[in-house]
Amino acid sequence: MSDAIVIGGGVIGLLCARELRLAGLDVTLVERDRPGKQASWASAGILSVAPPLDASPAASLKRLSAELYPGLVAALREESGVDPEYTWSGHLVPAMDDGEADDLVALVEHDRRRGLETELVTGPAVRQLEPVLAPSVVAAQLRPGGQIDNRRLCRALELAERHAGTSLMYGVAATEVLRQGGRVTGLRTLAGEFRAPVIVNAAGSWSGQLRGCEPPVPVAPQRGEILALDHSASPLRRVVTRPFDPYLVPRVDGRLVVGATRKYVGYDGSFTAGGMAWLLNEAIGLVPALADAPVVETWTGFRPNSPDGLPIIGRGELEGLFFATGHGPSGIAPAPGTARLLVALVEGGSLPVPAEPFAPLRFANRPVDVDSRSWRIQGGHRV
Ligand SMILES: Cc1cc2nc3c(=O)[nH]c(=O)nc-3n(C[C@H](O)[C@H](O)[C@H](O)COP(=O)(O)OP(=O)(O)OC[C@H]3O[C@@H](n4cnc5c(N)ncnc54)[C@H](O)[C@@H]3O)c2cc1C
Repeated sequence: MSDAIVIGGGVIGLLCARELRLAGLDVTLVERDRPGKQASWASAGILSVAPPLDASPAASLKRLSAELYPGLVAALREESGVDPEYTWSGHLVPAMDDGEADDLVALVEHDRRRGLETELVTGPAVRQLEPVLAPSVVAAQLRPGGQIDNRRLCRALELAERHAGTSLMYGVAATEVLRQGGRVTGLRTLAGEFRAPVIVNAAGSWSGQLRGCEPPVPVAPQRGEILALDHSASPLRRVVTRPFDPYLVPRVDGRLVVGATRKYVGYDGSFTAGGMAWLLNEAIGLVPALADAPVVETWTGFRPNSPDGLPIIGRGELEGLFFATGHGPSGIAPAPGTARLLVALVEGGSLPVPAEPFAPLRFANRPVDVDSRSWRIQGGHRV
């Protein structure tokens, strides 16, 4: 018998397990595969900031997370011996012609009005910042932002929990939340039943598939195709991101992550010729020298998208049932804040950000839209 069972060992489940454990609960984490091998593996790990005066729910969660990240990373280094390679060296948003440069001027003004410290860089100054960018880049917005190696982050979280005594169960698929009356009593898995008064559904793109989890949350997988180049011969210094896609994320180890496509194709994890052609063309358009860069890895992952683009965090219909899922294209950036909010809701403490906009019950009594292709594609690439 545990105090709480977390379903799913992605970044969200691992962080929820950590925060619950830090709050004094005896926690079991159930992962059907190995932890950190799904969306949290596939991610580019971009950490974008929310402007200080942006009052939207997603922005408040992201700001809280941005505050928590440095302390979390330092603690994980200590507890696990793994450095998640968190860096905060800014994001560059390039304009490829005068029309795009005009749009950037408007974007910079808009961001400044919302309190963000950002600037427009033009002409040769752009190449002083990033010498390998194409001559066709006429201007760029420099904005605060960072990145983290999401794979190392998950590994660090896993090891830290292991050392701290959290019960980590791998290769164990959850199938059904057990109940008595209106409250949770435990979890049925393919490896047997486990008792706990609190269950947290953090199963990412698969969160809507568990029996007894009400409301049935309409989380749909959106495939992202993504690849890595060896850019050690033409290194970028900071994350470069077009207003939508693609983006280039230079890792400490000399890899350049180039992402990502966005398509609803169910759970088809194919890496396609069209996806690869598009990613490579866009990358070489931004940094011509990448034409000679070796392709070192290609992969895909499923963003756990929710219909309204907001994560699903909070209580379900049963006493003791909680959700932390639906983070879509931005799940690494708001992950620490998500776990903090989730634990405040479980423990009944004061909330670090308003919880109402994220409530799972917003989907109660709503027919589940099974055709995720009709959903609003979440705007922008401000992950
Ligand atoms: C290509 C791509 C690029 C991205 N780039 C960024 C980015 O730059 N910045 C950013 O912030 N976000 C990004 N994201 C989004 C981010 O990766 C996700 O939102 C986040 O990782 C979701 O984490 P999660 O823990 O909810 O899901 P996952 O990492 O998918 O974890 C869910 C876990 O639940 C397990 N599970 C499922 N069903 C069961 C079951 N029945 N029993 C037991 N275990 C189960 C799965 O095996 C999995 O390990 C990107 C995503 C993709 C695909």
